[in-house]
Amino acid sequence: MQLLNLNGKKIILRVDFNVPMDKDQNITDNSRIKECVATINYILDHVGTSIVLLSHLGRPLKKLTPEGNIDTKTFTLKNTVACLSELLNRPVQFCPDCIGAEADKKAKELAPGEILLMENTRFHAEEEKGDEQFAEQLSTYGDIYLNDAFGTAHRAHASTAVIAQYFPRSKKGFGFLMKRELDNAKKLLINPERPYTAIIGGAKVSDKILLLEKIIDSVDNLIIGGGMAYTLIKAQGGKIGSSLVEEERLDVARQFLEKAKGRINLYLPEDSVIADKFTAEANTQIVDSDNIPDGWMGLDIGPKAIEAFVKVISKSRSIMWNGPMGVFEMKPFAAGTVAIAKEIAEETATGAFSLIGGGDSAAAIHQIGLTSQVSFVSTGGGAMLELLEGKVLPGVKAILEG
Ligand code: AMP
Repeated sequence: MQLLNLNGKKIILRVDFNVPMDKDQNITDNSRIKECVATINYILDHVGTSIVLLSHLGRPLKKLTPEGNIDTKTFTLKNTVACLSELLNRPVQFCPDCIGAEADKKAKELAPGEILLMENTRFHAEEEKGDEQFAEQLSTYGDIYLNDAFGTAHRAHASTAVIAQYFPRSKKGFGFLMKRELDNAKKLLINPERPYTAIIGGAKVSDKILLLEKIIDSVDNLIIGGGMAYTLIKAQGGKIGSSLVEEERLDVARQFLEKAKGRINLYLPEDSVIADKFTAEANTQIVDSDNIPDGWMGLDIGPKAIEAFVKVISKSRSIMWNGPMGVFEMKPFAAGTVAIAKEIAEETATGAFSLIGGGDSAAAIHQIGLTSQVSFVSTGGGAMLELLEGKVLPGVKAILEG
């Protein structure tokens, strides 16, 4: 973006305003809107610029009203206008559809210094289909296309990727948020400082097996916790009671364990906090993770696992964390996740580089209050996972091509 000639131009900026809202459509976490403010202000600091903002919010076509219509009350981007306007300290115009005569007119008549937010691109099926005609229409709203929507960069949608083909390389680029996400991922993808430790947790092996398989080519240490650890422990012959398991992934888990052997240091939780029910009020005890009694389930890593994991992290210079170590949403099972987060913050203070993947690990680090004490918290769960799996994101490729 800094290399493009922005003066006098109308800029189409794809942002990710897919913010969480309560049932009355009040925004409960405005981080994604806040993250784009720097890019918007940078553009408007140039002479004669104006901005047409494109974004999606939720998955409106998957959640139609009982009558089969789009639930415009829940999914309208109008609910983000006041927040954006307040953050920018400027008025923000809104167009009730992102396509059609009114959208055309409003985009055309936009004067220098003005900002126009178009309604949710996903109100049209063409968005997710990556429809070329739809994308071409969107491309007519401005002279330059900038993408700052990292959270959807792994989707080849009309407004995130296809639209870019209607702009030459000199008229498209990344916003600051997108650039920051890519630059930070690069620190792990290209010559990370060693030792490099990845900590992977969360519910399912199936969601992260591609990441596991890719990451063993680059890390020195791989720590696996959370619900997914029990599929691996069972694959090794352990007794896991009624812990979370993906029976159909046991073979994949076995193959992965075989592949990892000798290549990296792999750490599974030696012990677990187990519960007789999936509730915060359950009875709990601490046992070895491969000897969990029938009827009990592992819901957090135990004290021996915490000690071992902390020791590994304390010697690391690059750290990537994706997925909680246990059911951190329930207090009796949050200790493992909290301990790991604290240790990552401590190592960051000594100069290690730490990247927290989006989604639940970002939520955990926010909840624990350590966001400012790690190197970088990604805003994109799926997008960061795919990037670290070594995939080229369609939203990134579209900018770099042609
Ligand atoms: P993911 O989206 O795959 O990162 O998974 C995050 C979810 O995994 C969180 O909601 C956690 O509560 C859940 N989780 C973590 N550890 C366990 C576990 N041992 N058993 C069941 N669920 C877990």
